[in-house]
Amino acid sequence: MRKKIVAGNWKMNMELAEGLKLAESVDTYFRSKPSKAEVVLCTPYIHLAGVSQILKDGKVCLGAQNCASEPSGAFTGEISPAMILSTGAGYVIIGHSERRSYYHEDNTILNRKTRLALSTGLKVIFCCGEVLGERESGKYFDVVKNQIENGLFNIPAEEMNSVVVAYEPVWAIGTGLTATPEQAQEMHQYIRGLFSEKYGKEIADNLTILYGGSCKPSNAAEIFSKPDVDGGLIGGAALKKDDFTAIVEAI
Ligand code: PEP
Repeated sequence: MRKKIVAGNWKMNMELAEGLKLAESVDTYFRSKPSKAEVVLCTPYIHLAGVSQILKDGKVCLGAQNCASEPSGAFTGEISPAMILSTGAGYVIIGHSERRSYYHEDNTILNRKTRLALSTGLKVIFCCGEVLGERESGKYFDVVKNQIENGLFNIPAEEMNSVVVAYEPVWAIGTGLTATPEQAQEMHQYIRGLFSEKYGKEIADNLTILYGGSCKPSNAAEIFSKPDVDGGLIGGAALKKDDFTAIVEAI
């Protein structure tokens, strides 16, 4: 059975002390109440080392929200996958729609980041998803296909067990609009089909595909009940311990 994952993406929120406090409360919760899903906290870079100490020997995993496309060197302000790994983090989000749109990260750079992160030993949560106009004009399958083919399909099959895909319709991120469970299922099934054609049925069946976009305690169970939805990437609701743990419990 493929792995279920619920990952919280804190984005650019939480000063250090607040973040450590939130991590501590999430960690304490899952130490006493193990979850059916793997729980991941994707924090800002500055929190990683401190949160890693809190999560040590517990049930919750740690991730970053981005990484550099180069392994080291004169790249002022960048953070390499090896640096992320050295904090104790095991995951990195790559290709979030906010990176694609505000920082103009295209498929070429995202593919470089993904290959470097995987070869460093990180697991990658690779995001894809269409904007509202692409949904309305019916182009959404083509858009997601293009992001996945160009972002992931030169990754060797042996590394695919370290790849998680997050389908995040951009029109649903932080907007309060959620894809219907049927819309999520339709796209997740399509994505799994792309992986099946490229890598074969076994790899596709083992691929964890997360839904992201205004997931909250009130809608999580219905979305997670769909057969190709293997968990969620959670933004706003991951900033509140009770909401986040309730979403995890919905698995
Ligand atoms: C996200 O940013 O990945 C996300 C899903 O955000 P939100 O849950 O706030 O829509």
